[in-house]
Amino acid sequence: MKDCNCIFCKIANGEIPSNTVYEDEYFRAILDLSPAAKGHTLILPKEHFANLYELDDEYAKRVMPVAKMIAMAAKKALNADGVNLVQNNEAAAGQTVPHFHLHVIPRHEGDNALPLWTPGQSDPEEQKEIAAKIGGEL
Ligand code: 5GP
Ligand code: ZN
Repeated sequence: MKDCNCIFCKIANGEIPSNTVYEDEYFRAILDLSPAAKGHTLILPKEHFANLYELDDEYAKRVMPVAKMIAMAAKKALNADGVNLVQNNEAAAGQTVPHFHLHVIPRHEGDNALPLWTPGQSDPEEQKEIAAKIGGEL
């Protein structure tokens, strides 16, 4: 199912050219237009899913082996020291293109390419409540 107005549908299906790193029946992996670091890659399903919540389980199952393969290839090709996987859902979480995608970001020691969160503090009682609350929704 393609969404005709979705730029990532067009890129994933080859209607718009891209710097493709990898392609199979399910995914196309492309270089990000505004990379956080050299080799920043996006793994795009060829079918339209707006976000993780909508992602078909078959695609969900297949996406991590692709990410692993690209992470290891990019690390080797670019002599990276590490790799981040990032996946944003909804505007509040930083999603700007509403077609599921997984970011693979090669990192070099001290590059400051990606701000990580500031570790907060946890309250044991509250943690128990939160775990039960989330678990209760599963
Ligand atoms: P998000 O913020 O939704 O998680 O990530 C969207 C990503 O897509 C951003 O990193 C942005 O630079 C990238 N992007 C947006 N439009 C295009 C495009 O037309 N081509 C490519 N290659 N990347 C894009
Ligand atoms: Zn799409």
